[in-house]
Amino acid sequence: MANADDGMVVGVDVGGTKIAVGAVRSAKAQDRVERPTQVSSTEALLDGLEATVNEVIRTAGTPAAIGVGVPSQIEYSTGTVETSVNIPLTGVPLRTELGRRFGVPVFVDNDANCAALAEAQLVPCDNLVMLTLGTGVGGGVINSGRIFRGAHGLGAELGHFSVNADGPPCPGNCPNHGCLEAYCSGQAIERDATELAEDKPGSRLARALGEDGKVSGRELVSAAEEGDPDALLIFDRLARMLGVGIAGYVNVFQPELLVIGGGLSRASHLYFQRAVQEAASRALPALWRRAQVSLARGGADAGVIGAGVLAAQEVQEASRSTPAGARRDTGQAMTTEPEGVE
Ligand SMILES: [Zn+2]
Repeated sequence: MANADDGMVVGVDVGGTKIAVGAVRSAKAQDRVERPTQVSSTEALLDGLEATVNEVIRTAGTPAAIGVGVPSQIEYSTGTVETSVNIPLTGVPLRTELGRRFGVPVFVDNDANCAALAEAQLVPCDNLVMLTLGTGVGGGVINSGRIFRGAHGLGAELGHFSVNADGPPCPGNCPNHGCLEAYCSGQAIERDATELAEDKPGSRLARALGEDGKVSGRELVSAAEEGDPDALLIFDRLARMLGVGIAGYVNVFQPELLVIGGGLSRASHLYFQRAVQEAASRALPALWRRAQVSLARGGADAGVIGAGVLAAQEVQEASRSTPAGARRDTGQAMTTEPEGVE
């Protein structure tokens, strides 16, 4: 059995449909367990999460700390969930609640931040920007090896940067127009495909209209792979706007590496090269020369690894700022109450 002294942490990746948990050591996940996310109530979700983590702890031992990534906006210092779209966590003081249940320090962050941290560890590199193209567009920024969060942990919303003041309304919970999310997300391309299908009865996309009156992302990808010009046009626009975004983020953050991840990255053969060309023609040359753009390495364990690495970094930081005599007992040296971490 492992114990709290050997640097093992537990990483938890909470998704809308499943919770993945693993023991994380040296940016590798072991003893991985995956269970459906209980979304009927906050209590049910937390009980399910607790049971899944305990399964891993029974095999791997007691961790020094637990890191949790959630698809939510998080106020990092308190670990309180600000908003959460698909799971019942809005307003929940998650860090305190889970700290009480597990009796070890818990750290809670946005899942896109955790994914970016995992990427930075896997490469490895210290300055990285990650864009996650899924239903929406998420992002994470790693600056000198650490997650950049802004004042309260709510920053780095890279999908909600507008690249066109008069663009389409943002499909996210966002009042802006022309956000990257309005062009480069699953929701955005399904919207575009559906509009085109309605405008062109008899076209390939019109034939792909589903019973819900929409063209799904999957259908759109198939049409583009068959060479349908309407579908290709949609991916062309996505690529162009993504390139504008990449150039902007390279200019602002000067990452060594910018990676594209998320579900839509599986269709990257339809837009990635074109996006990089667009970015190359727009980014400041001195920064572009020093930056690389690639697909995320990710993999199924990235969320678990990122959450674990976050916890490990926090434990390390606390042990550095704690007197040597107190270091052995990480449970006391760090409390789960933010005001106790002094
Ligand atoms: Zn937006």
